[in-house]
Amino acid sequence: MKQLSAVITLLVALSVSGSAQTGERELVNVRELIPDIVIDLKYNTTDNFTHQKLYSTDECLLSAGAVRRLAVVQDSLRRRRLGLKVWDGYRPRTIQFLMFDIYPDSNFVADPKRGSLHNRGAAVDLTLVDLVTGRELRMPTPFDFFGEAASQGSPNLPPDVIANRELLQRLMVDVGGFESYEAEWWHYVYPPGRRFPLCDFQMR
Ligand SMILES: [Zn+2]
Repeated sequence: MKQLSAVITLLVALSVSGSAQTGERELVNVRELIPDIVIDLKYNTTDNFTHQKLYSTDECLLSAGAVRRLAVVQDSLRRRRLGLKVWDGYRPRTIQFLMFDIYPDSNFVADPKRGSLHNRGAAVDLTLVDLVTGRELRMPTPFDFFGEAASQGSPNLPPDVIANRELLQRLMVDVGGFESYEAEWWHYVYPPGRRFPLCDFQMR
């Protein structure tokens, strides 16, 4: 039995290292791989904490490895007539400098000198929607709410709001293999992406 589990561990390790060699860090268009995902890039509007339109596209890019994991989460949600709505994915590093100038608090905006995992195509900001009506499920706060209520463990919320936050977390972590971020309920990290390069490719 011990030998069998050792073999399984080895196989898992091999498949993880194998996928690392098949372009998992390449930035790809999320919508092309997950056609029914809802994309609503808040930084392509003025409805964000900078009140400036920072992007010039509504196409969302992410590392291929992260998109493959997101597709598994979307498959699982679809069975419940739910889906994902993405507010941000890959973010050029130039934009990170701009954001940090406006809001220099590294709890909420990563210091651009070190870079954000968004700059590596390895972080995604998202929420849940009803797949039929397109309406967002009730969550603790709006996107980019900088305060206690945005934290994963924030109590004193209506039970349905806590259930929605926990459903998103359970699916992203247990099904998708993402890591959640304590300070922001909407922010998830694709762990292998910590090794990916910081990018400044501009989306058009
Ligand atoms: Zn984020």
